[in-house]
Amino acid sequence: MNIVLMGPPGAGKGTQADVMARNLFVPHISTGDIFRANIKAGTELGQLANQYISKGDLVPDEVTLAMIKDRLAEDDCAKGFILDGLPRTIGQADALEAILAEQGKQLDKVVNIDVPEELLIARLCGRRVCRNCSQTYHLENNPPTEPGRCDECGGELYQRADDSEETIKNRLEVYRAQSEPLIAYYEQKGLLLSVNGNQTINNVLVDIGKGLGQSW
Ligand code: ADP
Ligand code: ADP
Ligand code: ZN
Repeated sequence: MNIVLMGPPGAGKGTQADVMARNLFVPHISTGDIFRANIKAGTELGQLANQYISKGDLVPDEVTLAMIKDRLAEDDCAKGFILDGLPRTIGQADALEAILAEQGKQLDKVVNIDVPEELLIARLCGRRVCRNCSQTYHLENNPPTEPGRCDECGGELYQRADDSEETIKNRLEVYRAQSEPLIAYYEQKGLLLSVNGNQTINNVLVDIGKGLGQSW
């Protein structure tokens, strides 16, 4: 299955994508994770992307689309993928369709995780991520067993630099202006599955499964 996960910053895309990918035996492709890995490694791509990410702005399309085109062409995507973080604009959605068409593929479903805006700031401020394996936690909603340590790998948990209140405000504005129109775009294409993201992590997963005809 070729699936896109959409939703505002903090909706729970990464959290759900991770479990879905493990259950469906397909890769979880997160554009944000790829950028952050490049920033950590100090690559040219990372240095460029960081100028935008640190402000909460979108990384330019020429960089983002070249990166995703290469990633989707890798062998592990042959049986499907869960794409988290792209498209973020109508332009990227059109480009994604063209990239997939070149590879003889198309999207099967676009899952939109719907969460009221007033909940997002608390979700983002409380988010902690493993430095080593990118597993995501929340200080209150989904805490690790041992504070500051990843349950999966024992790695150190950190707070993303762009999860500061000021950057969050800009990311939410960017979402509203540039990404939210994608909901109507995919609805029109008959690909949209919208789920209520304002429930427990497990219940969101169950609802996604119902919509995909999948019991996890
Ligand atoms: P996104 O990838 O959409 O930005 P994340 O998956 O990183 O979102 O989730 C944002 C934060 O909210 C994380 O700290 C995560 O643990 C927490 N979270 C995710 N889903 C839920 C949920 N259904 N209820 C409460 N908190 C959640
Ligand atoms: P979120 O948790 O807000 O959904 P992500 O980890 O998906 O965050 O993305 C972090 C940042 O990486 C974004 O704020 C943006 O700067 C950049 N980014 C991620 N995906 C894209 C994309 N498709 N186009 C442009 N920039 C992107
Ligand atoms: Zn870890």
